[in-house]
Amino acid sequence: MARGRNDITARIRALYNELPPQVTLVAVSKTRSDEEIREAYDAGQRVFGENKVQELVSKASRLPTDIEWHLIGHLQSNKVKFIAPFVSMIHSVDSLRLLSEINKEAGKCGRIIPCLLQFHIAREESKFGLDLEEAVVLLESEQYRSMRHIFIAGVMGMATFSTDVALVRKEFSNLREIFNTIRNQFFASSARFTYLSMGMSGDYPLAIEEGSNMVRIGSNIFGER
Ligand SMILES: *Cc1c(COP(=O)(O)O)cnc(C)c1O
Repeated sequence: MARGRNDITARIRALYNELPPQVTLVAVSKTRSDEEIREAYDAGQRVFGENKVQELVSKASRLPTDIEWHLIGHLQSNKVKFIAPFVSMIHSVDSLRLLSEINKEAGKCGRIIPCLLQFHIAREESKFGLDLEEAVVLLESEQYRSMRHIFIAGVMGMATFSTDVALVRKEFSNLREIFNTIRNQFFASSARFTYLSMGMSGDYPLAIEEGSNMVRIGSNIFGER
């Protein structure tokens, strides 16, 4: 059931009490109304995540301009142009081709867009993402090295949707290792590779135990979708 105003405010407050200070909360607002998002905004929340370009663009046009919009869902290259003018972070980069398109469109807007590399860490076939080897190929490419309108700000991943705590923990710890490996190999001298985006409503405490510093939480704030 959807939550009312006081509930959303209370959930945001409870999360800020609970989350360690180094953890950024991305309030996942997909399928939620403008009114619900405003309630979270009025409670002080500024970072919101959407998984569909169309929905993101239309919400951004109506809601306060100091909201930082993160695209967290799969992104098709031909839709990058719609979000490039304003998006604050893209969590779902899973190919050099997509990154190149983001770079191109960000350039047209005179922007530099922070991007996360999405990794496939879950058992489910359906979840998008790179493996470590593919990411290394991407990061070693001349094409990537020449990009001036994006930077890689970290990594993102989704664990298997499961009540098997040991499995989910293992997947998060796997992503943390990927994060550390990439940081040491490619970003040792850069302060900009910082985000380990993992953890959703059902598994964020585990993700934080495994080192997450960016959680993407929807139903825990707004109620079941
Ligand atoms: C929907 C979604 C979330 C949030 O899911 P909840 O279970 O509602 O917290 C997080 N990340 C991604 C990529 C999503 O699509």
